[in-house]
Parts: sequence; structure tokens; C-alpha cells
Amino acid sequence: MNISTLPFLEAWSPEITVDQILHILGADPYILRKRNARAVAIAEEALATGLRLLTPAVTYRRWMVKSLRHERLVLENDSYLSGPLIAQHLYAAQELAVAVCTIGEAVEKAASETFADDPAYSMALDCFGSLAADMLGAAACHYIESSAELEGKKTTIPLSPGLLGWPVTYGQRELFMLVDADNIGVHLNESCMMIPHKTTSIVVGIGTDVDQQGQMCDYCNMRDVCRHRGYHD
Ligand code: SF4
Repeated sequence: MNISTLPFLEAWSPEITVDQILHILGADPYILRKRNARAVAIAEEALATGLRLLTPAVTYRRWMVKSLRHERLVLENDSYLSGPLIAQHLYAAQELAVAVCTIGEAVEKAASETFADDPAYSMALDCFGSLAADMLGAAACHYIESSAELEGKKTTIPLSPGLLGWPVTYGQRELFMLVDADNIGVHLNESCMMIPHKTTSIVVGIGTDVDQQGQMCDYCNMRDVCRHRGYHD
């Protein structure tokens, strides 16, 4: 099932504020509003343009889990996810929900095209795109959690390739074997980066005995310096 057809996505628009964009850019919005009206105006323009350029899409699928052996979680079609992070969080999962969520390529294209003439605006637009992709991923997670809840099941925290214990180099390829990402215009390049870049990929374990161990950011090596913390939730 592709959830790009579900009502939550059709009505979805990220609740991003100018202050959030300024914060991600490294500024204190309170101080900046007093001292730098130009910077605030740039962030406002980036927000308005970014919202117009969004073309959100999500591809999603649930798989039954067959077995877990030696840190390898094998699914009903004999595909698998592997690594210590997978074993730690998904050991009790009966099912797996897999989603790739993108805001499309227009925002990053506009950011790239304006960088030479207006780098501040370009960076603000890029920040908007990253925030929107994070929030779309969070919306997909909420959908997965609510669906599981209706079935009387629990969910793990979302896991993404690149977190500690699930390297991008093989994690992203494992995940992309489980969804039809072409369907929403997303592919992996040779370095396993997702194209368009403003895309998130997640797996969530579902079952009656799974547990939530911490939060996604706890397992990220950027956690001490990242300004995006909290936007996955
Ligand atoms: S620390 Fe930052 S990059 Fe890492 S998972 Fe959290 S929000 Fe994402």
C-alpha cells in the first residue's frame, strides 16, 4: 500500500515557523528579530517559497518478520535488515513498517540555483527543506503508530540508516529493497545517498511485545551538535 493516497498526506503541510528556520541557521531568533530585519525577511521569503514548492509523497509497506538470527532480521520475502541497531530494537517485532518520505526536488533545486546570487536565502530555503522532510517523516511515523494502536499493537522508535549500529552503506540498500521508492521518484546514488536529498527513510517495528528504547536522536553521532533535534518527533 502506498500511503501517498491517504488523507493525512493530501492535507499535510509542515508547521514550520520563521524562528525554526533561523534557529537551524544558528541564530537566536529573539536577538535577530531586534537586530537584523533583513535576515528575518529572508527567512520569511524562504518559508513562503518553500511551502509553494513542496510536492510531498510517501511510499510505505508492512512486512511480516520471519526470524532474527545473528543480528539479521529476516522478513517474509527473505529480504533482511542487519546490524546491532536492528537486533537491539527489532528483536521482538512481529511486523515491520517501512517508509520513504520525500518533499520532492523543487526546494533543493531552487536553493541550489539561488546560492551564487543570494547564499543567505539559499541556505534558508535549504533549512526549510530539511525541516519539512523531517516533519513528513514524523507524520508517517505517527500514521504507523496510530494504525498499530488500532490493532492493539505497539511500535518501536523509528530507525533510519546512518544511525549508530546501522550504517548507511548497507542499511539504505536493505531498506530500499522493501519499498517501491521509484514510484515516488526517489533513488539511491552510488554512495547510498537518497535523491532527492530532502527525503527520509524509516523502519518501525510493530508487535505486542516491542518496546521504545529512548529516541531516534539518542542513536545518532550528531546528537551533541545537531540543531534539528526534536523535529523527527
Ligand atoms: S541528532 Fe539530528 S541528524 Fe541525528 S537523528 Fe537527531 S535530528 Fe536527525
